Amino acid sequence: MKVPILTYHSVLPLKKGESQRGSISLDLFKQHMFWLKSKGYSTITLNQISEGLQHLPKEIKRPFILTFDDGYQSVLDHALPVLKELNFQSIIFIVTDYVGKNSYFFERQGGPPYLHASWEELNEASTQGFSIGAHTHTHADLTRTESDIAQVEIKKSKDLIINHLGNCDHFAYPYGCVNGEVKSWVEEIGFKTAVTTASGMNTNIASLHLLNRFTIGSKTTLRRLKRKLGHWF
Ligand SMILES: [Zn+2]
Repeated sequence: MKVPILTYHSVLPLKKGESQRGSISLDLFKQHMFWLKSKGYSTITLNQISEGLQHLPKEIKRPFILTFDDGYQSVLDHALPVLKELNFQSIIFIVTDYVGKNSYFFERQGGPPYLHASWEELNEASTQGFSIGAHTHTHADLTRTESDIAQVEIKKSKDLIINHLGNCDHFAYPYGCVNGEVKSWVEEIGFKTAVTTASGMNTNIASLHLLNRFTIGSKTTLRRLKRKLGHWF
């Protein structure tokens, strides 16, 4: 069995032809989600991956995992209602120092500041089909950070999420940057899985802490999404 994991960031109700770095338009997001539903895809969780794909319920023919990086407010406002309608679950990887604040991660590429959801909002989302994972405390590239600081980045984000929301078992490497040392810290700190940005399906999963993901952005038309998932017609 192969499991695609999709990565989105911000979801905004952009007008036709309008684009913003880091965002996909709500229209295109809906096209993706409704197509997945129409093809019989159903969401599974990273917990289910960590427990082994052989234990998946038989009725799940086409599993996939939906992830949102950084924890933007727009995801709760615009994506969550669509997911609830389709009965899809997902996970949001949050940057704990930015909860309730603006970040400028896309500014260097010409993007706007983006507001991150607050703890209250994340708490509510976690009761509605979203789980919350860690994406470090300040969105540090862990491969270019001093080792003691990098370990604090990982551990602090996990501890804060546990304090506010009760649990935190999954991790996303900022910028997808990971090496053997970074991976070993994430394992030691106690995450069950970790996701990268290496493109590809998860088939024979060699490491639960190096899961592949397909990055989905404003240029990922429905046709491109279909091809990523192996639907050529
Ligand atoms: Zn990120």
